[in-house]
Amino acid sequence: MKKIQIITLFPEMFEGVLNSSMMWKAQKEKAVEFRIINLRDFGLGPRKQVDDTPYGGGDGMLLMPEPLFGAINDAKNYAKGSKVVLMTPKGQRWKQSEARGWADSSDDYILVCGRYEGYDERILTLVDKQVSVGDYVLTGGELPAMTIIDSIVRLIPGVLGGENSAEIESFSDGETLEFPQYTRPEVFNEMGVPKVLLSGNHAEIAKWRQENSEKAE
Ligand code: SAM
Repeated sequence: MKKIQIITLFPEMFEGVLNSSMMWKAQKEKAVEFRIINLRDFGLGPRKQVDDTPYGGGDGMLLMPEPLFGAINDAKNYAKGSKVVLMTPKGQRWKQSEARGWADSSDDYILVCGRYEGYDERILTLVDKQVSVGDYVLTGGELPAMTIIDSIVRLIPGVLGGENSAEIESFSDGETLEFPQYTRPEVFNEMGVPKVLLSGNHAEIAKWRQENSEKAE
């Protein structure tokens, strides 16, 4: 069973996402175990401080190294050999091929969610990989972590169950977007379904789908 641990200052953000739909099913079927670590528990002093001002000046606060080292080491003790993955806009752009690789591997993961203006750079000595979900800046690493988790867990063998849609969906070959799809009714607001899809001719349908799959940019 794949273990995914998340280090965050906002554990409550994960409750809805990890306990719904595929993420919930994946836990129930013991394909994955999630463990949420509250960074605040590793804060310093009676006020459990986790952030401080940057050396050299500048706006905002940075996550301090001590709480992050404490939380990461706690997670590593729980699941030895786990890969530590830092959410950061400076990281490598997340892709479907990565999600597939991580789902198929036997590795466990510790996802670290930054906050404020970021983190003390010295935590990079504990980090195996830095990941970005896109060229924009979010308030924290929680949404990126949820995005990455969802994209991996749905691809763990058995999680999608009867649906083999992951084999033919967008980006599954690295470059193609899925063809247009239709369901009942056959005519809606005077808009019909392409006739070929109603023909029952599987070869023609496959040809139409291939012709109507766009290349990803
Ligand atoms: N000052 C940082 C910079 O300019 O790169 C941005 C800090 S951001 C407000 C706070 C945290 O949100 C980051 O440390 C990171 O953990 C997370 N984050 C924001 N955008 C992200 C993205 N595109 N991908 C992954 N993580 C992101």
